[in-house]
Amino acid sequence: MDKQVCQAIVVTPGKKDSARVQAVPIDELGAGQLRLRVLEVGICGTDHEINEGLYGAPPKGLDYLIPGHESLTEVMDVGRGVSGWMPGDLGVPIVRRPCPEMCPACARGRWDMCLTGNYRERGISGLQGMLREQMVDDADFVVRVPKTLRGCAVLVEPLSIVEKAVGETLRLQRRSPVPPRTALVTGAGPIGLLATLLLRSRGMEVHVLDRLPKDSLKAKIATAAGATYIDDSKTPLEAATKGLYFDIAVEASGYAPLLFRALAKLGRNAALVLTGVTAGHHSLNIDVDLVNQELVLENQLLIGSVNAARHHYTSAVADLARWKTRYPGLVPQLITSRRPLEQFTDALQKSEDGIKPVVGVAQR
Ligand SMILES: [Zn+2]
Ligand SMILES: [Zn+2]
Repeated sequence: MDKQVCQAIVVTPGKKDSARVQAVPIDELGAGQLRLRVLEVGICGTDHEINEGLYGAPPKGLDYLIPGHESLTEVMDVGRGVSGWMPGDLGVPIVRRPCPEMCPACARGRWDMCLTGNYRERGISGLQGMLREQMVDDADFVVRVPKTLRGCAVLVEPLSIVEKAVGETLRLQRRSPVPPRTALVTGAGPIGLLATLLLRSRGMEVHVLDRLPKDSLKAKIATAAGATYIDDSKTPLEAATKGLYFDIAVEASGYAPLLFRALAKLGRNAALVLTGVTAGHHSLNIDVDLVNQELVLENQLLIGSVNAARHHYTSAVADLARWKTRYPGLVPQLITSRRPLEQFTDALQKSEDGIKPVVGVAQR
């Protein structure tokens, strides 16, 4: 008898450029689970690193990893004991899963703040990802998405990262007697642009910085969201925002030297949140006494933020729904290419003005 299989992208972790199409076994549907047809998968820097062999670990006992962690899926079948889900419903599987020790953070649903570091992540480490025609997942780890968001819900996962980073920074800034009003976002990639939209929709005045001309798509999206765009290669941040100091800064470029330039643009009682994991080893000559002095004398806060909990996913879904009316047609523009599964490696190619490449997985 033929084993039931479906098409997937697989990589051999640790091996450069190993991504290939391969038939993989279809999982059995257990109690409390959903069988999901994978509609779309968004590609990001993590997928690049996995295919570069720099990152990623297969599930125990296997020698291959199915990448893909930003996804939109459709329910095909509902397992025993699952209520509230029907075939045809849309859902986004959560990426990170609690550590086996169930540390106090994971036990409270905050796997994004896991204390052991032994969590597993779909498509990244220890769990197969979404770049396959179908998969099975626990219903408790799938976030529901309304069908009206079909065209942009593949952005729920990257937006969940922003919901946590920006949401927690705004929450922490309640320490300030004066509500934050101005924000700086460094880097106009998917995270930077989603942060811009989120800050704008929270009523903030936003400046966004990148190194592309003002007629680039990234600049146009930032401007359409009501933000001021700065082309740092033409007019450096310091000149473009002379005399201006920000209440909140979001570092989304993943270029560490920018962190210190953003820090220097922080106002009193302000906060800088870092979202990008920086590759490389840049060295800077920094007056650390001055950094220390400014952080202390100006009550400044420096925050790092990674991953997201369930409530950040549901906030992402709610915001995408709000933005559909507030910024008609704007959010889908962040998806700059859609390719079939076999062209996964093309989707990995970086292009200057590309924002979020997406792979369409299940053919219907
Ligand atoms: Zn990602
Ligand atoms: Zn944990």
